[in-house]
Amino acid sequence: MKEDVENLTRQIDELSARLREAIGRSSEQMNNAPYQPKAHPKLATTSAAPPAAKNTPYRQKIEKLSGEVVDSNPYSRLMALQRMGIVKDYEKIRKKTVAVVGVGGVGSVVAEMLTRCGIGKLILFDYDKVEIANMNRLFYQPNQAGLSKVEAARDTLVHVNPDVQIEVHNFNITTMDNFITFIDRLRHGSLSNSKIDLVLSCVDNFEARMAVNMACNEENQIWMESGVSENAVSGHIQFIEPGKTACFACVPPLVVASNIDERTLKREGVCAASLPTTMAVVAGFLVMNTLKFLLNFGEVSHYVGYNALLDFFPRESIKPNPSCDDDHCKLRQREYQERIANEPVEIDFGPDLDEPEVLHEENEWGIELVDESAPAPPKVESSSGVAQGLKFAYDPVSKTPEEEDLSPAQAAANDLMQSIKEKLVEEASQQKNGGKKNLDHAFG
Ligand SMILES: [Zn+2]
Repeated sequence: MKEDVENLTRQIDELSARLREAIGRSSEQMNNAPYQPKAHPKLATTSAAPPAAKNTPYRQKIEKLSGEVVDSNPYSRLMALQRMGIVKDYEKIRKKTVAVVGVGGVGSVVAEMLTRCGIGKLILFDYDKVEIANMNRLFYQPNQAGLSKVEAARDTLVHVNPDVQIEVHNFNITTMDNFITFIDRLRHGSLSNSKIDLVLSCVDNFEARMAVNMACNEENQIWMESGVSENAVSGHIQFIEPGKTACFACVPPLVVASNIDERTLKREGVCAASLPTTMAVVAGFLVMNTLKFLLNFGEVSHYVGYNALLDFFPRESIKPNPSCDDDHCKLRQREYQERIANEPVEIDFGPDLDEPEVLHEENEWGIELVDESAPAPPKVESSSGVAQGLKFAYDPVSKTPEEEDLSPAQAAANDLMQSIKEKLVEEASQQKNGGKKNLDHAFG
């Protein structure tokens, strides 16, 4: 009897030892196993996590931004922009609403950047679904394949920054009903149910760009256009203020010239190429221009191109076309002309020179901010009238009949008025810059 009990105890001990060993081996294997994404919630029979937990942000909302330098403050690096004198009032960003039309390779990254910067509200428009074929780009994850892009984006962004309000519209803005809703969101989409601050177009087709253009001309809404070429090695961003700068219908789209044979593009059965690099560069330019516009710092660019093969970034400024096909554009142009005609002449003497230079508080290397207000180098014009390295997507429309009908004397008078105006502006900027820096350019 006693022997039986001893045998049994020994067997139990052996068995438990083998079990422990087996458990140890399997957990080791699990740690080394490749990551297995959870099944898609819509395709899985049972969901791995309850839906409520999925959308619960990892932190509480923050009432007031603080510049306190602690590891737990998500805004310390952004608020440092204020301390370093780049931005006057960073917290202003929390009151701003930006609509992003198209949340693909560029738009999703734009939405993420704005979310991380603490924008007040984002309104996202797209009608596409996430596909495995999108995984060469940033932002979306393979386990989101099959989900609508706007919903997948919202699910990610609420975790990144729960302070940002995110509104999504899973539809195509170019259909009549949706276009009306789109206009309504431009008018009433802000945090105070009023006009939003900016529209960013990150779409990949002409029709959607024309729809955004039409809506923004109608609503007198400032917006920015962006695009990446079909061969993935160039892109651009463009700032459009109705009446002041060329709208999307004023002139043919300005694109970055490349020496690539166009016949290799758009062949049947060949899809457009895309690279996460080009898309991230364009998204970065777009959000940088957005931050400068929303927070009033630096110079908002009217057009920046990117030629990835040469690492060349041409800049340009395009005036509106008085005979634009869009009637609202022409109306905005008239309004703008009236507005500037009635504006008193103001000479801006620039920043207060008595202001102390702001340096980083832990400036142990003595790093100083370089004065970048020096004049830009003279622009090199190409034969097409736009900066070197740029071209219109197709031939620009001919001049307006009125312009063509000008007599040589009228044309000369116009030119003279224009050059006098330019001289006055130059002189004003002379005084602004202390009257020294610009001399060789102003009168050269
Ligand atoms: Zn126009």
